[in-house]
Amino acid sequence: MPLLSGGAGDMLRFITCGSVDDGKSTLIGRLLVDGNAVPDDHLHANGIDGDLAQLVDGLHAERTQGITIDVGYRYFTTARRRYVIADTPGHEQYTRNMATGASTADLAVILVDATKGVRRQTYRHSAIVALMGIRQVVLAINKMDLVGWRQEAFSAIAATYRALTAPLALPTVTAIPMSARLGDNVIDLGAHMPWYDGPALLEHLESVDVASPHGGLFRFFVQWITRDEVTTFRGYAGTVLGGSIRAGEEIVVLPSGKQSRIARIVTADGDLAEASVGQAVTLALADEIDVSRGDLLAAPDGRPPQLADQLAAHLLWLDEAPMLPGRPYLMRLGPATMTATVSELKHQLDIDDGTHKAAKQLAANEIGFANLALDRPMPFDRYDDNRDTGGFVLIDRLTNATVGAGMIRFPLRRAANLRWHDFTVNRGQRSAIKGHRPAVLWFTGLSGAGKSTIADGVEKRLLALGHHTYTLDGDNVRHGLNRDLGFTAADRVENIRRVIETAHLMADAGLIVLVSFISPFRAERARARERLGGDFFFAEIFVDTSLDECERRDPKGLYRKARAGSLQNFTGLDSPYEPPEQPDLHLRTTASTIDAEVEQVLGILRHHGVLDRPDPLRS
Ligand code: ADP
Repeated sequence: MPLLSGGAGDMLRFITCGSVDDGKSTLIGRLLVDGNAVPDDHLHANGIDGDLAQLVDGLHAERTQGITIDVGYRYFTTARRRYVIADTPGHEQYTRNMATGASTADLAVILVDATKGVRRQTYRHSAIVALMGIRQVVLAINKMDLVGWRQEAFSAIAATYRALTAPLALPTVTAIPMSARLGDNVIDLGAHMPWYDGPALLEHLESVDVASPHGGLFRFFVQWITRDEVTTFRGYAGTVLGGSIRAGEEIVVLPSGKQSRIARIVTADGDLAEASVGQAVTLALADEIDVSRGDLLAAPDGRPPQLADQLAAHLLWLDEAPMLPGRPYLMRLGPATMTATVSELKHQLDIDDGTHKAAKQLAANEIGFANLALDRPMPFDRYDDNRDTGGFVLIDRLTNATVGAGMIRFPLRRAANLRWHDFTVNRGQRSAIKGHRPAVLWFTGLSGAGKSTIADGVEKRLLALGHHTYTLDGDNVRHGLNRDLGFTAADRVENIRRVIETAHLMADAGLIVLVSFISPFRAERARARERLGGDFFFAEIFVDTSLDECERRDPKGLYRKARAGSLQNFTGLDSPYEPPEQPDLHLRTTASTIDAEVEQVLGILRHHGVLDRPDPLRS
């Protein structure tokens, strides 16, 4: 990657925030035209976009999935530096556009019209800039010609800005008075404001230090592993995402925690003695230790990466379908993909004034602060320390669309101290004395489809055969454990989560558990299979009855009530039911009898050996 071979210090990426009215286009135009800036087609042709942090890679990929991210990039070069300007339009999707542009920027130029002063959008831009970890802000107070070039006007606006944005804790704010129209203080200092003794904008951009605050500790995600059978060479390919590395230096591999030394730094053009941030290389280690794709290689000293399966992060929601706590999403963190759920949405952040409000879900373009639970411990950094190893995207498991972007704030240690305790008597022994293997039968279908009726029939037969069962019924669970939950999408997700966990405890106790739950969403049923199927026999049983037939049967009179308007969010009417695509058993009740359906369910239990009497001593 010759593009960055001189090190990222040669390059400055910045974002401009403000509207045309504030003089944004004039300012960019003047920078490009008067700054002796050479449009950098080389940079463009090499596809800088392909080199952006994965946070944005995720968002870019999203273009093909129907979400448009509107960020224009311009490229230019001066004698000192190469520049990438991210420019985002200010229309209603500004949050995700601006966040995308800001996610790779080192610096933000926030424009204020001196005749108007600090406005609501100024705060909003600054809030997004702070959230996305930009450490350098230039407050460009423009149109100074229209306020008589007065120092007091400039000082008052700068002071108001600093006071207003103090809670955002922006590390460095440099206020520059200018007139983009007349050119003062854009490229060089003009003659109109002799009282200003700071740098002009371009001078500041040329010299500003955008090095990492932590001295750039070495970070490297293993993107893929290369092997050569003949020479037995084994190398780990990826891009240096932080700091630099020299041959011979110590590294630690996470999550395993094993240590080794760098034996070689290999590139297509030969070995290197050192590789620094932005460079794509293949690393060979001195010791034969286990390293997998997605592992993080890091400097063993300094501030080490975090390793946790729970974390707190800011989430920017991108999808039209809301983020629901408890719903499993795929998380992409570097090259690794895992399952993640929002275990708690702490608050929603109002970027117009910085206030926090209570929220149960996040809609598109909303930002929240949440706890997330991952399916395994993962190495990461805080986003403010390293955006590449501290940023992630969330992906919908069924559509594969990128639905959210996250900035990790800190790991949650709770899980690390909680260990699963294995008791001497285990689940195999507990179920063996009951003469079967533990199992969960998950019945899904519309209300009135026949789930409870069939489950009841199955339970009677199993009891007669001497098996120990329990039926978790949707309505019954809502009388106790889930009495606090309603029927909104968010509550339904939590309802299912608790039922899955209860079924898990019961199957762990050795029972055959029958779950009779409408469970309308595929994502939740997939979650049930994932959580339960690994530990027990699990079967998804689709009790397939048409809406018309269910409504005709209406065993509990619920359809009548819903049609009369006294029941909201009723599945099949004003709340969706997503039929299973590949159930383990598909029962079409209008073409069958209850007895025959019960027999089919017993059939799959027998077929999978659930009812075979195991030897308790060998379990
Ligand atoms: P759910 O538990 O799915 O809400 P229920 O089991 O309470 O549904 O009600 C289903 C109704 O349909 C019962 O009254 C049942 O007798 C009737 N029914 C008619 N034919 C069938 C069939 N083939 N399978 C299951 N139920 C049937």
